[in-house]
Amino acid sequence: MFEKDEKINSLVDMGFSEDEANMAIIRCGVDGDLSVLVDSISASRVAGNLNLSNHQVMGGCFDSFGGRKKARLVEERKKKRKRCGCTGQSNQPSLDCNHDEDMLIPNPMVGFNLPNYSLPLVRVTRRILEQDMGPPYFYYENVARAPTGVWATISRSLYDIQPEFVDSKHLCATARKRGYIHNLPIENRAPLLPSPPMTIFEAFPRYKKWWPSWDQRTQFNCLLTGVAGPKLTGKIGRALASADTPPSQSIQKYVIDHCKRYNLVWVGKNKVAKLEPQEIEYPLGFPKDHTRGLGDTNRYKSLGNSFHVDTVAYHLSVLKGMFPNGVNVLSLFTGIGGGEVALHRLGINMRTVVSVEIDKASKRIFRDWWNQTQTGTLIEIDDVKSLTDDQVATYVTTFGGFDLVIGGSPCNNLAGCNRSSRHGLEGKQSVLFHHYVRILNAVKSAMARK
Ligand code: SAH
Repeated sequence: MFEKDEKINSLVDMGFSEDEANMAIIRCGVDGDLSVLVDSISASRVAGNLNLSNHQVMGGCFDSFGGRKKARLVEERKKKRKRCGCTGQSNQPSLDCNHDEDMLIPNPMVGFNLPNYSLPLVRVTRRILEQDMGPPYFYYENVARAPTGVWATISRSLYDIQPEFVDSKHLCATARKRGYIHNLPIENRAPLLPSPPMTIFEAFPRYKKWWPSWDQRTQFNCLLTGVAGPKLTGKIGRALASADTPPSQSIQKYVIDHCKRYNLVWVGKNKVAKLEPQEIEYPLGFPKDHTRGLGDTNRYKSLGNSFHVDTVAYHLSVLKGMFPNGVNVLSLFTGIGGGEVALHRLGINMRTVVSVEIDKASKRIFRDWWNQTQTGTLIEIDDVKSLTDDQVATYVTTFGGFDLVIGGSPCNNLAGCNRSSRHGLEGKQSVLFHHYVRILNAVKSAMARK
């Protein structure tokens, strides 16, 4: 299982979806060399684009295609890339164009630009029709590694705008791979200052003391909604206590695999522990104690679902010059308010926020933060489904329009870890995405009528 998971992780890190990685392992076997698995996925993608039957792909790994067929597939892939203007070289960031069902994610995942990377990073092919330019500006977020076709559908529903994929590990000490579709300008962005720490030890120097040299992690993986329990950390402690110093390769591998998966830290001799909720608030860009007051399970859950504040703030920073008098915000799926915290940290005044969030615990966190930091008007609505187009039009009239419609709809049926319920965009929770589109369209038409 470990070998399989490791191969899946490596493939996912290379930019393939978990589905593709799984299918390649089914086709080639878990012993297949990584390069064979990569070839198999590439063959499968090309076959998909050439409308080859599934059977032809399932027939074996890339190597089992005849030499001529393989050459033809490679040729087709090259041609396709040429049409799209994509280089397709792994060490050079590139993006497939919007019409592609398999929207390729750039590697490294640095979006259209980032503060510490020199321009131009990614060939930006996004075109925004005049009628879709702001205001209203909009900003939509979801997990980058969604099942095949999901981002193409999202992009089609959001005016065919090219998504911007960013992994927060390029901005802070923890990974969080997300895709963003927005109609904001991408020039003259500015990062939040001070810049957050980029490594685990910069963020938490005290963990150096017990960190073994064979644990070479410098950054955390994505901080998830669930955390490791005492059973697991106890088991790791016992394995280490009865091991040699340093432990054998296999024990090291066992420990490191779990440390990576659950973002465990070294807090004593042979002693690993999960991060505390406030240690998660920090790299995600929230103020200390932002989620305090909730039970730990709710704190981990809401933080696991939240925006990465510094990434979002980098993208939203362009609003600052455009709206010196502040903004009216329609915030869909507000959660604990990652978008609003980002605006606040940018020094952008929120005159009004109409916030739509169903979870009572998250609402409480957001309302408490709002009352402590803001003077504008907060209107709360529970369920996106209950926000009608007429009500949206009334808000547009009352507030003179929305400057920003921001939100990231639930990823429950898209994210890699929810294997059993990963039904894609039409899954029970993720289907709520369509309400984002509906409500944004209602704002646009009401503002156009004005
Ligand atoms: N961007 C947010 C988190 C978004 S996660 C942040 O920074 O915290 C998706 C959110 O959608 C969750 O908080 C979830 O409670 C909320 N949600 C789920 N179903 C909903 C519904 N029907 N109406 C409104 N919000 C909903």
